[in-house]
Amino acid sequence: MSAARRPLIAGNWKMHKTIAQTQAFIADLCARPLPLDDVDAVLCPPFTALAAAGAALAGSRVGLGAQNVSWAEQGALTGEIAPAMLTECGVRWVVIGHSERRAMFGELDERVKEKARIALAHGLTPIVAVGETAEEHAAGIALDKVRRQVRAAFDGFADDEIARCVVAYEPIWAIGTGKADSPEEANAVMGAIRADVPGLRDARILYGGSVKPDNIAAFVSQPHIDGGLVGGASLEPASFAALLEGA
Ligand code: PGA
Repeated sequence: MSAARRPLIAGNWKMHKTIAQTQAFIADLCARPLPLDDVDAVLCPPFTALAAAGAALAGSRVGLGAQNVSWAEQGALTGEIAPAMLTECGVRWVVIGHSERRAMFGELDERVKEKARIALAHGLTPIVAVGETAEEHAAGIALDKVRRQVRAAFDGFADDEIARCVVAYEPIWAIGTGKADSPEEANAVMGAIRADVPGLRDARILYGGSVKPDNIAAFVSQPHIDGGLVGGASLEPASFAALLEGA
């Protein structure tokens, strides 16, 4: 495994935590002994808590991520957040194309690509999320779906640009259900997309979908799984710290 593929645990808080709750989480987490020589940690609070999180994490090795970014630099885009607004808060990572955004906010492959492109231009590391529905999984077309999403997200990117991105493979049926994919099956899909896209050879590919402290080690022990994008189990400091230990 290359040095670029150090394990990464990214906590996707979704629409959870106020500013005060974010500050309390960070104070608790950073008071713990964390294995940050061996694993990278990123927290992705909601937009409203990013500035406070950035201040609380200053000088810490825990990174800060956002859950979304606009595809444009600025302009008449009511409700959107531009990349420069994120970097100003200390954000260095951004989740793009999460299945909840694709399903509930109509986010299409083309937008995912534009967002990854603008994120890179601002020095943000895109965490591009892909994954199949339960129906696609049952029909045996998970890999076709994921391959199409990955190719679309990086269409026109140079290999060295893709290498600066992270992909998160999140089977939609495994998100928030407590029913994680099997590490072997997830690894097979992730290995196939790594083989498919040369720029991903040395990039990190995360698994997401009901990752918990008690299953993270089984996932990262697979050759193509470089960590986790974690929702529910990232919301408590003890659980997030245990994920870092497990990775
Ligand atoms: P979960 O969510 O860990 O709660 O399943 C993962 C995600 O949506 O990124």
